[in-house]
Amino acid sequence: MKYTTAIFDLDGTLLNTLGDLREAVNAAITPRGLPPVTETQVRERVGNGIRNLITRCMPDGTPDSEIDACLAAFRTYYNDHLMDYTHPYPGVTELLQALKDAGMRIAVLSNKYDPAAKALIRHFFPRLVDLTLGERPDVPRKPDPASCKEILSDLGAAPESTVYLGDSAVDIHTAQNAGIDAIGVTWGFRSRETLVEAGAVQLADRPYELSTLLLGPDIDALQKAFTSHGFAFTYFATKEQATAYLAQECAGKTVGFGGSITLDQMGAYEALSQTAQVHWHWKGEAPCVNAQIFVTSANGLSATGEVVNIDGASNRVAASLYGAKTCFMVCGLNKLAPTVQDAIERARNVAAPRNAQRLKVQTPCAVDGKCHDCRSPARICRSLVVHMGPPLSFERYEIVLIGEILGY
Ligand code: SF4
Repeated sequence: MKYTTAIFDLDGTLLNTLGDLREAVNAAITPRGLPPVTETQVRERVGNGIRNLITRCMPDGTPDSEIDACLAAFRTYYNDHLMDYTHPYPGVTELLQALKDAGMRIAVLSNKYDPAAKALIRHFFPRLVDLTLGERPDVPRKPDPASCKEILSDLGAAPESTVYLGDSAVDIHTAQNAGIDAIGVTWGFRSRETLVEAGAVQLADRPYELSTLLLGPDIDALQKAFTSHGFAFTYFATKEQATAYLAQECAGKTVGFGGSITLDQMGAYEALSQTAQVHWHWKGEAPCVNAQIFVTSANGLSATGEVVNIDGASNRVAASLYGAKTCFMVCGLNKLAPTVQDAIERARNVAAPRNAQRLKVQTPCAVDGKCHDCRSPARICRSLVVHMGPPLSFERYEIVLIGEILGY
């Protein structure tokens, strides 16, 4: 286990606090004749402390004394309404419990004022968090690293064995300033693009991905789950090792590739072409339907041993069902979900929207990164296949899991 300490941001990472923040802002500003703000506006304006949120919800040039009065009104209301609408994001409590059970120390660092941050953690995550620090007088806010370093010191944690997890550029910058690794989470208040621009090199789309990333996959359990369904299963720590394995297994054969960002990121076409006759429509060829081996990825793998794929043209899922004698399903750790329902949810709400954005199609998910179950003519998810076992026409059907984040 590389990390022994995890520091989490609060708002937008552990808790969805937008509803109560909206109510408290409106309780502060509407008595002054200002229009109420929406949850979307709060989402856009939150960050860097409550005073900044209030300031952004008031007209430019509002005197400091008026902002201070609004801030006081906000706190009066918010202190009594911290938990009217606030709730943990789905899977977050289970994530914290899994990290705790594995012996990790857990801290929370927030730009929300300290008493409110502590009250929320006590209520929602009792006994799961070792230390919570919110905004305090005379201590600079994130992205200043002062509080982050205080946590390291108080918990006796080394920077190299600590990871910071948050949903905003402020979080990524805080980790950078403190000299610790960061993982951005995409389910909160800010976009994937914002996190990447801030320098996030690792991103997680669902809390269960963090469990796998931080604790590592349970290879024995996965092997058992997939083989019980009739799939072969191999695991490689790196994409280079997996690529070398595939090149060896495919040597001298005709190989068809399904459309796959994972294979692209692995450089698999170039590597396998050294030893095999590889056909890939992403390289300007027609989709290959009569190769001896079909290599592709999946959009979701369940820890219970099922494989989920979603497709538009559907040549990829068709070739995974019939044609070749051997199939390799090559997936990064990010494709692992606890259940087949989670894997389907992932395929529909993570993989399909990201592909829609990549392809720049006119679908609702291309705009906001979430599935709206659209009936758009440009809809890209038209086939959903759950492999509960290898199709009978295949002689070998192998899940190749790689210990890295790859593809969608
Ligand atoms: S159903 Fe529509 S909105 Fe949902 S992922 Fe597919 S294309 Fe996007």
